[in-house]
Amino acid sequence: MTITHGGPLTELGAGLYALLPGRRGWGLANCGLLVGENSALWIDSPYDRRLAGEFLAASRALLPAGADVDRVVVTHANGDHLWGACVLPGAQVVATDAARAHLCLEPTPDQLHALAGAVDPATPWGSYVRRHFGVFDWSATELPTVTETFTGEHELTVGRHTVRLASLPPGHTVGDLFVHLPEADVVFTGDVVFGSTAAQPGDHPSHWAGPLGNLIESCERFLATGARTFVPGHGPVLSAAGLKVHIGYLEYVAERAHAFHAAGVPAAEAARRVIGEGNYPELGLPERLVITIGSEYRHLDNGDHPGMLPIMQQVAQLAWDLSGR
Ligand SMILES: [Zn+2]
Repeated sequence: MTITHGGPLTELGAGLYALLPGRRGWGLANCGLLVGENSALWIDSPYDRRLAGEFLAASRALLPAGADVDRVVVTHANGDHLWGACVLPGAQVVATDAARAHLCLEPTPDQLHALAGAVDPATPWGSYVRRHFGVFDWSATELPTVTETFTGEHELTVGRHTVRLASLPPGHTVGDLFVHLPEADVVFTGDVVFGSTAAQPGDHPSHWAGPLGNLIESCERFLATGARTFVPGHGPVLSAAGLKVHIGYLEYVAERAHAFHAAGVPAAEAARRVIGEGNYPELGLPERLVITIGSEYRHLDNGDHPGMLPIMQQVAQLAWDLSGR
């Protein structure tokens, strides 16, 4: 496959483009654009109205006269994949039944906007929010309406592309899906995969649902499509070999989480110890291991999800401690 860099979008195949922010960090998701004769489809959308407007302008520059982006497939309900669809108020927005049902667990754009303006940057929490989320502007971002849902498999057509959607078991969130484009040999994995390569190191994943066994099985399913190119939710595009390396990461974190759980080590302390083992020093945001290991522990303990905010406060505390303050 040849990846052509032209303008803000990267061409992955005939009529297929990706918005690859090229930087790591919270909220900077990869998105897809499929161009048909009279229509176009996005796979995910950026986090706020300004970024989504830029993606829309870049998309429209590639569309035939009279065509517009009229469908958005959302890989999961996190705002950094869904909220940008607010710039397409007439578009059909497709997600899984479970993603729509779990939207109530997510903060709204208004809540995040209020939060980002109210934190005290002298505290671990406030410093973390300012540093990682201060670049986004949710003042004019609305929560889009998910108009169509499914469970199992669902197929769409855009131009010459068959678009195969399939729901996944709980992993990154409850309600993940992936997109297989067989004509292009490309899979969009959503945040089931966080990409990293030697040339472009990525971040540690933040898996809110788990268990890791489900995520590993989903990655195996992506490989089983026979696709050659895997666009992760964040980070660089991967080959099949790169995806296998990522499976190795997930297996390592699962093995350590289970071992620390069996030894009675609390989840937050287990995350610190995994970071201390120093096996993936190139990955950013190591504090997010609190999220993924916490999810694994909840499965082992049959515990309830405490909600995103208390978990994020643990993440911020760990980042504060790791920075030596
Ligand atoms: Zn994401």
